[in-house]
Amino acid sequence: MYLRLTDEQKMVQKTIRRFVEKELIPLENEVLRNEREGKPSLPAGMLKELQFKAKEAGFWGINTPEEYGGADLGQMMMAIVLMEVSKTFVPFQFGGSADNILYYGNEEQKKKYLLPTINGEKKSCFAMTEPGAGSDTRNIKMTAVRDGNEWVLNGEKTFITGGNEADFVMAIAITDKDLHQSTHGREGVTCFIVDRDMGWKSEYIHTMGEWGPAGLVFDQVRVPEENILGELHKGYNLGLEWIGFARWVVGARAVGAAERLLQMAIDYAKERVTFGKPIAERQAIQWQIADSAVEIEAAKWMVLNAAFTLDNGEDNRHLASMAKLYGANMGNNVVDRVLQIHGGMGYTRELPIERWYREARLWRIYDGTDEIQRMIIARNLIKGHVKLGQYV
Ligand SMILES: Cc1cc2nc3c(=O)[nH]c(=O)nc-3n(C[C@H](O)[C@H](O)[C@H](O)COP(=O)(O)OP(=O)(O)OC[C@H]3O[C@@H](n4cnc5c(N)ncnc54)[C@H](O)[C@@H]3O)c2cc1C
Repeated sequence: MYLRLTDEQKMVQKTIRRFVEKELIPLENEVLRNEREGKPSLPAGMLKELQFKAKEAGFWGINTPEEYGGADLGQMMMAIVLMEVSKTFVPFQFGGSADNILYYGNEEQKKKYLLPTINGEKKSCFAMTEPGAGSDTRNIKMTAVRDGNEWVLNGEKTFITGGNEADFVMAIAITDKDLHQSTHGREGVTCFIVDRDMGWKSEYIHTMGEWGPAGLVFDQVRVPEENILGELHKGYNLGLEWIGFARWVVGARAVGAAERLLQMAIDYAKERVTFGKPIAERQAIQWQIADSAVEIEAAKWMVLNAAFTLDNGEDNRHLASMAKLYGANMGNNVVDRVLQIHGGMGYTRELPIERWYREARLWRIYDGTDEIQRMIIARNLIKGHVKLGQYV
C-alpha cells in the first residue's frame, strides 16, 4: 500500500489547480454579482468556452471511454480532479461526458442521445423522484401504458436537476402494475428516453441554492417503443445506478469546498484582531480550525477509498454511502465554523461564505439523504453484506 498520489496523479492535480486558479477563481465576483441580480451564474456560452479551455489542457470526458472521445482517467483521477475543481463555487463542469446509464442504450440510442450529450449538443436529465416518492423510490406512481408500438406516459416528477434546460429526460415509469406490486417495486418499471418535443412540460422550482431543479408534468405523452432504455420492466436498477454513481462525488465536492473555506478562515483569523490579539491566537478559534482540518482529512480518505475501490473492480456502494454521509456533514460543519470565524462579515453577501452555506445544505439531501445513507450502511452491516474492516 502506498498512501501518496503517483507522479501522474500529482501532475493532473497540479494542472487542474492551475486551471481553477487561472480560469475559474477570477470569475467568482462576476458569478456572485450575476446571481445576486437574479441572472444565470455564468453568461450564455461562457461554460462552453471554459470547457474548451479545459479540453486544450487535456480534460475532456474525464470518465468517458476512449472510444467515445473521452480521457477515461478512472475514478481516482476523477476524485482528485473534483476535489480541486470544487475549491471554487463557479459552477463549472468538464465537457465530454454523459449520464452513466445512457451507455445502456442500443446503437441507435447511442447515436441519437449518448453521442450528442457527450459532444455538448444535447442536454439530459434524469427523473425518478415524484411528489409522493423521494427516498421511497419504489412508491412512484407515474405510469406508461402500451398503445400499439407507443407508450403513453402520465404523471409528475419533481426536483429534477437540469429539468428546465434538458432536451430529453430519462424518466422512470410503471409499466406493469402487478409485477411492480409483487416485486415490491423492484420490477415492472421502465426507463424511457423522452424528448422535450414529445410533450412534457417543466417548471423551475425555487430553492435556497442558486440553481433550481424542475418539476416535470407528463400528460398523455406518447413515446415510441424504441425509446425504452435498457430492458422493459427493468428500469429500477438503472435508476439506482444513476443515483448511486453520484454518491461519493458529493463527498469529493464537499472536500474541495471545505479546504478552500478553511483556508479563508485561517487567513482571516490571522488578520482579525480583537482585544489586542489576532483571533487565531484564541483557543476557541484554533479548535474550530483543528476540528475542521481533521474532518476534511477523514472525508478525503473516505472519498479516495470509495474511488479506489471502484477502480479496483470491487463493489463500492457501502463506501460510497459512507463518503457521501460523512463528506456532506463535514462540509456543513466546516462552512458553519468558517462563517462563525468571520463573525458578521461571514453572514454578509460581501463574501461567498453564505452562498456555500446554502449550497452545502443540499449535500445532505439529494442522492439519498443522511438518513437513507445511515439506513444502507447499517443494513449492510446487520445483514452481513459487508463486514467491519472488509476493505482495509
Ligand atoms: C436540488 C435537488 C436536486 C435533485 N435532483 C434530482 C434529480 O435530478 N433526479 C431525481 O430523480 N431526484 C432529484 N432530487 C430528489 C432527491 O433525490 C430527493 O429530494 C431525496 O431523495 C429525498 O426525497 P424527499 O425530498 O421526497 O424526502 P422524503 O423521502 O419525503 O424524506 C423526508 C425526510 O424523511 C426522512 N426519511 C425518509 N424515509 C426514511 C426512513 N425510512 N427512515 C428514516 N428517515 C426517513 C428523509 O431522510 C428526510 O429527512 C433532487 C432534490 C433536490 C432538492
